[in-house]
Amino acid sequence: KLQQSKIPNYPGLERYRLIEKMGDGAFSIVYKAVDLQTKEEVAVKVIRKFELNANQRSSILKEVAIMRQLRHKNVVQLIDFSESENHYFIVLELLPGGELFHQIVRLTYFSEDLARHVIVQVAEAVQYLHEEVGVVHRDIKPENLLFYPAPFTPSKKIVLRKGEDESKEDEGKYIPGVGAGGIGVIKLADFGLSKVVWDSKTMTPCGTVGYTAPEIVKDERYSKSVDMWALGCVLYTILCGFPPFYDDSIDVLTEKVARGQYTFLSPWWDEISKGAKDLVSHLLTVDPERRYTIEDFLAHPWITQSNEPTHPAL
Ligand code: ADP
Ligand code: MG
Repeated sequence: KLQQSKIPNYPGLERYRLIEKMGDGAFSIVYKAVDLQTKEEVAVKVIRKFELNANQRSSILKEVAIMRQLRHKNVVQLIDFSESENHYFIVLELLPGGELFHQIVRLTYFSEDLARHVIVQVAEAVQYLHEEVGVVHRDIKPENLLFYPAPFTPSKKIVLRKGEDESKEDEGKYIPGVGAGGIGVIKLADFGLSKVVWDSKTMTPCGTVGYTAPEIVKDERYSKSVDMWALGCVLYTILCGFPPFYDDSIDVLTEKVARGQYTFLSPWWDEISKGAKDLVSHLLTVDPERRYTIEDFLAHPWITQSNEPTHPAL
């Protein structure tokens, strides 16, 4: 706690008062801050320029250029960008819940209802990016999913953890902000690896219409499918509490991913519905041509069903 109070003073950032550190990256620190003009709380990502080469610097500017175009309820909003001699400052909407998965770690895994509530919000961000903006995120993972807690509602309509006695009056089991309304708003952050693949004005892959090479068209499709694989990994993880692919050896892990070698491990997956498994398996499909697109995902019966028992057709 005491160490948290050691916040450096950044020349060029006079408009904001930094309050505490919220996150850390390789070249950046994210702070909670107050905008002294509007009095609003924000997040400021401070990036150290001098550790970056020319390529890395231009990719920061690309990240900002992409974020400038984005406006969606499930995407972290860019508020401001500036730079000083030594730093870039990316000012973002503050997500006070921080990383979703830190908050939920104690639940171990989610009920299907809660998993659906979460993954649908991520999918809506992906749909917006893929179909309206023409951007692929390329780094969808638990650390980049931030959340804005809903007001605390001590209701138990959404069972958070399967197999738990719902009627137990144990508040510690419930995350603040989780209740009948779900878990709050989930937002996709970190556009550091994102890429424009599709021109939203001409509704074509980037480049001149009619002269686009097949590999460009394919590249657009493939890069979108990368986000869908990641969505499958996130869905798998929240349903059972561990990731689909894991090994202590990076070589073995790489091989497992390349082959799409995962299982619905017993006993953890025994009680999970066929519908959920069906959806996961359509996302964790090695062949990108056959992998579900965001449209397929949103039309799947496990997604379209309301918070009710497994769809009878499955
Ligand atoms: P990096 O490129 O270093 O991964 P991120 O943009 O992912 O940078 O930010 C790093 C971490 O900082 C996130 O994982 C999260 O914990 C925290 N963070 C980032 N943006 C926000 C925000 N808008 N609100 C709250 N916390 C944030
Ligand atoms: Mg990140």
